[in-house]
Amino acid sequence: MPRDDRATGPDAPAVVWFRFDLRLSDNPALTAAANSGRPLVGLYVLDETGHGSRPLGAAARWWLAGSLRALQSALARAGVPLILRRGPATAVISAVLRETGAGLIAWNPRPMPAEQAADDSVRDIVAAALPHVAIADGQRRTCLLHDPAAVRGRVFTPFWKTLTAKLAPPPPLPVPRLRAGPRIDSDRLADWRLEPTAPDWAGGLRDTWTPGEAGAASRLASFLDGGIEGYATLRDRPDLAHVSMLSPHLRFGEITPGQVWHTVQMALASGRAATADAEKFLSELGWREFAYNLLHHHPDIAAANLQARFDAFPWQPDDALLRAWQRGATGYPIVDAGMRQLWRTGWMHNRVRMVVASFLVKHLLQDWRAGEAWFWDTLVDADPASNPASWQWVAGCGADAAPYFRIFNPILQGERFDPDGAYVRRFVPELAGLPNAAIHQPWRATPVERAAAGVRLGDTYPAPIVEHTRARNRALAAFGEIKSNA
Ligand code: FAD
Repeated sequence: MPRDDRATGPDAPAVVWFRFDLRLSDNPALTAAANSGRPLVGLYVLDETGHGSRPLGAAARWWLAGSLRALQSALARAGVPLILRRGPATAVISAVLRETGAGLIAWNPRPMPAEQAADDSVRDIVAAALPHVAIADGQRRTCLLHDPAAVRGRVFTPFWKTLTAKLAPPPPLPVPRLRAGPRIDSDRLADWRLEPTAPDWAGGLRDTWTPGEAGAASRLASFLDGGIEGYATLRDRPDLAHVSMLSPHLRFGEITPGQVWHTVQMALASGRAATADAEKFLSELGWREFAYNLLHHHPDIAAANLQARFDAFPWQPDDALLRAWQRGATGYPIVDAGMRQLWRTGWMHNRVRMVVASFLVKHLLQDWRAGEAWFWDTLVDADPASNPASWQWVAGCGADAAPYFRIFNPILQGERFDPDGAYVRRFVPELAGLPNAAIHQPWRATPVERAAAGVRLGDTYPAPIVEHTRARNRALAAFGEIKSNA
């Protein structure tokens, strides 16, 4: 391989390969590239060839478009292009390195096993085909607070206790000084068709979210500006605004858990956040760490039960039941409100995620993988670790799972966590006129109350598709069939 002197000179550009780290701050790969003093070229590769990564669902594709647009403008302010290319990462990267005459390529390590393997093959191919190009891929990890390869946790509480005892995330990196780099051919974002057009179902997503690093920072700031107050107790209330809604920003790497951790520490030190609220909030970030730990040690977590005895579970696949759940037409208001919040905004409150997931796997006896797949397609925060780990947790087949026999009662969950029915009224407006006492069980309203509210069960709103007690007993009996295999 002839040596390319142009590429080894100090003015040979550095290519920064962005993945799920769509930000300028606390970005070790970008900082390493900037510190080399070379002109910079950003690159995003849409690799849909299935090399390891799970193809993004529709809501996540919508988010990706917004996030890339935000990154493109942020880089453009410093004259740095963000080149968009589609195809197998190895081939695209080799081409871009040649076209730019690059002397360096930098990327951040990813915590997912399949993606790590894909990165290894890119490294091998670049090293073999373009030996004059330096590779900076070993910078510190910023997508997680811990290194899953160094810890193995099957039970959350001791896992998080051990981790917090030694947790000292390094201070986040500032945005480096960027040197403008050469522009080469780039795909047009619109041509990737990441956003829906006919039909355009993304109106509710646009109303709810601002993808990108600035959107992430302002979401965190507003959470610390009031939302965190009472988080320890109020985080379970879907009718209130006491959670951060940072999940899609974390998922796309628009903000790092280290940045969140340090900002919360500052809020604690200045008295803006109470200890109980801050600790509870950080422990939720701990669940994210835990999920990535599980993914690292169980790469097939989205497909295989972590507890093998569940392989024999007598699921009863039924497309009509699955569709009723997906559409928010189960006749249980808290379940339907959650599924419609998901459809409209691409996100669902955590408490309600637990309720709807439990309802699908226990009341309806549908395989958790069917629910996981629906969430994967419809959540803007659909995450390769947190989504399957949470589904397995709710289904009872995961690590440190809620026991299968603990079956959420959707009526009591609604009454407890949405006491005035404000959440249900927002997402299931056809029930809005019911009195509070009946909002979580419309069939208990008197005929006069139903008539006054314009509710006709089975017509304007479905009658329950299963009866709670019967469904509960059926689920327990199904579990009884595999219990002895423990
Ligand atoms: P906050 O309460 O503000 O928490 C802060 C951050 O901590 C979140 O942004 C998230 O990154 C992390 N976090 C909080 N709770 C959890 C949890 N239980 N597990 C893992 N991380 C957590 N979260 C995802 O990010 N992506 C998913 O695909 C996903 N799928 C889920 C599926 C089911 C069935 C369930 C029960 C939970 C799922 N979660 C998922 C976890 C959780 O519901 C969301 O992270 C949370 O609702 C996001 O809202 P927030 O940012 O306001 O959370």
